[in-house]
Amino acid sequence: MNQNLENKLKEELYELKNHNLNRTIDDLRFINPTKAMNKDGMEYLVFGTNNYLGLTHHPDVIEASKEANDYGTGSTGSRLTTGASFGIRELEKNISEFKSTESALIFNTGYMANLGVIYALAKENDIIFSDQLNHASIIDGTKISKAKVKVYKHKDTVDLENLILDELKSNKELNLFIVTDGVFSMDGDIAPLPELVEIANKYDCCLIIDDAHATGVIGKNGKGTVEYFKDKTGKDLSKYVDLQIGTLSKALASEGGFVTGKQFYIDYLINKSRPFIFSTALSPSTIASANTALKLLKENSKRYLNDLNENTKLMRKLLNNGGLTVVDGETPIIPIIIGPTDLTNKFSKELEKEGILVSAIRPPSVPKGESRLRLTVIATHTKKEIEFTAKTIIKIWNKLKKENMEIKLNE
Ligand code: PMP
Repeated sequence: MNQNLENKLKEELYELKNHNLNRTIDDLRFINPTKAMNKDGMEYLVFGTNNYLGLTHHPDVIEASKEANDYGTGSTGSRLTTGASFGIRELEKNISEFKSTESALIFNTGYMANLGVIYALAKENDIIFSDQLNHASIIDGTKISKAKVKVYKHKDTVDLENLILDELKSNKELNLFIVTDGVFSMDGDIAPLPELVEIANKYDCCLIIDDAHATGVIGKNGKGTVEYFKDKTGKDLSKYVDLQIGTLSKALASEGGFVTGKQFYIDYLINKSRPFIFSTALSPSTIASANTALKLLKENSKRYLNDLNENTKLMRKLLNNGGLTVVDGETPIIPIIIGPTDLTNKFSKELEKEGILVSAIRPPSVPKGESRLRLTVIATHTKKEIEFTAKTIIKIWNKLKKENMEIKLNE
């Protein structure tokens, strides 16, 4: 045992605890998409999942997952060996159809999809332009690639274009990449895709968008950011984006990640993407649940998205009416920025005492001084649940404000 290492790691943990940044894991068992129980049997109303359509407990999804277990509980190997899980090709075909692209490839998580795509494609001497608030998995993908990384200010396409021009001055023989979240995971705002498409076209960049929080959430049919916007002919933007990345773990009620785009990209990734090649494929039941959730989304998109939007609007309106200015937006990710980490933790704990779970998000997930409650609304929350939660948040906010005059809850 290396005593020096042990001391150093313990010291780091102590520092995290000291700054209220220590992370622990609690057991939680979901009874339905909005209610969960902890290990002591205490029941909570949950306003913090990414289960945007509430499909994790849909009887068809559960049934499909059970039936797929007949093909074995595990996939037995990597896709390139024996792990061609039952249904996985069909799911890839369904995803590419849904996203109006040529082909798709499943990864084991959305995290691995970002990692596996970015570092397979972006090589030494290439340049990746990455939004300042991109998800950690994009950041990690850019870091392990050998490409140069330029971070542009959040959604600032002027800054992006200036950075591109700056780089092109010194070298024109480069492959350029622009990578962005579609819906940003911590702020819930939407990337300026039409402007990014224009810049990507102008400077011949490969445009990659991570639609983890957009798939099944925005766009008329839940197709994501490409569908939220339209081109001059009224068509969605799918043909202007090189690669759309996503996860099966949010609106699609399962686990896993995907990338979708032109066939040659997919063929290349099958041959070159290490997280794809060197990891065991997802199990048949995981694939079956995602496939069924996608089918349900396709068949019921109007109703699901309508419910989700109505709930989102109601929660935003009630919080605003209660004097709480939440970060403006249209998506079900509703961040309530508190600032100090200890106050954010306290807010979350107070909510927990009232039977409501909303995660406190702290650095390094968000920048220092921007700790927040990350409230998410899903399609199956009831009006009553939303009203109760908004009322309780406002009550606690007022109490904390009185107790602690210096808190500036976005006033
Ligand atoms: N991209 C974004 C924007 C995310 O928020 C997340 C996870 N929350 C991921 C990728 C990773 O997806 P997964 O959980 O499937 O690994």
